[in-house]
Amino acid sequence: MPATSPLSSAARSIGASVTLQLNAAAARMRAEGEPVIHLGGGEPESLAPATALTAGIDLLKTGEVRYTPASGTPGMKDAVVAYTEQFYGRSIERTNVMVSAGVKQALMVALMALVDPGDEVVFPVPYWVSYPEMARIAGAVPVPVALEEGAHQPTVAAMEAALTDRTRAVILNSPSNPSGLILDKEFLTGVITMCQARGITVLMDDIYHRLVFGGKITTHCYECTEKSVDEAGILVLNGVSKQYAMTGFRIGWAVGPATLIKAMSNIQSHLSGGPCTISQASAVAALSGDQNSVEDLRDELEERRNETADLLESIPGVELNHPDGTFYCFADFSAFDADSTRLSNLLLEKVQVVTVPGIEFGMEGYLRVSFCGSMKDVREGVRRMRWLLNDNGSAELKAGDRVFAR
Ligand code: PMP
Ligand code: GLU
Repeated sequence: MPATSPLSSAARSIGASVTLQLNAAAARMRAEGEPVIHLGGGEPESLAPATALTAGIDLLKTGEVRYTPASGTPGMKDAVVAYTEQFYGRSIERTNVMVSAGVKQALMVALMALVDPGDEVVFPVPYWVSYPEMARIAGAVPVPVALEEGAHQPTVAAMEAALTDRTRAVILNSPSNPSGLILDKEFLTGVITMCQARGITVLMDDIYHRLVFGGKITTHCYECTEKSVDEAGILVLNGVSKQYAMTGFRIGWAVGPATLIKAMSNIQSHLSGGPCTISQASAVAALSGDQNSVEDLRDELEERRNETADLLESIPGVELNHPDGTFYCFADFSAFDADSTRLSNLLLEKVQVVTVPGIEFGMEGYLRVSFCGSMKDVREGVRRMRWLLNDNGSAELKAGDRVFAR
């Protein structure tokens, strides 16, 4: 037997999720007693709704924890049917729904159902870290569409210019991780119409759609087309991770044309089978129970967004477009270092503050700063950043010093 296992080109073309790696690094540093401030996280710190916890415990107590259909339980599909009616104004059937182990799995399975080797998957910059890697795992070529100079929003023309006869899918995320930008109706309508004309599937990652601020509402995809869910060529992805603070339950779903959902469900039946039975019971309870926790989380995040944005803007040199949703500020730190990985490493090394380098989202010079953790951490983290970057001279001057001792 050869000493090493040769890896596939897909495996060789990707790395581990940087966001998850940073979570692990922050936890490790904390366990080692480092005074680390984690501003790189991507999950709310609130608890899952009590009804969701109780539903999971009740099922567990029966011991009847069995396989479910690969595409999800009828109860969970019905909850997604009701959710789609409520938030998207469309009546759908169970056959339009696949439940999955988080939006991550639904997205990955969708790409596996849509692309052949060498096909292209298009998405605007800045993009969520996993989109290019998922496209590569599926054998496709990721095609990020850069923002025009000085622009904060992608344009339909730039998206159109990126489409080729190999494009099979366009991924849109509104509000966006990392920028918090809500895509406007004109852009969404333009992209959806263009994709429909070319037979390209639009994957709408709506995982943050209820976590929006300032009275804003996200335009949803079905406001941009008259076509039915079966004919619109759109797959909507959502889940319980963010809106119900249920990241560890690993439940997401996809809503779209029955033929695509069937193909995806076939793939999922071999990949993992049905999602965790206990988690599906909890997710049904979250979706059908009292929705106050979502509103409370949204209110809380809006306050945190306001304060975090003010704090970041108090660092001379930092430029920020206030996020309209999510729990991230994506700020321009290029005045300090155009290399975001180097700057993020410097912040970690010198003042033990974790941020995510903008380059992981396709934009150099930026850092993503999360405000889903405690505000005490955000205040202390930004204080340390300002201290290192401004108050005490330039970052270079601090090279070699360790600023915060254990
Ligand atoms: N899409 C975006 C934009 C995200 O930020 C996340 C968070 N990890 C996901 C998808 C995946 O979420 P999950 O798999 O927990 O549903
Ligand atoms: N979506 C979150 C983030 O971007 C969670 C981490 C992940 O799943 O990659 O930080």
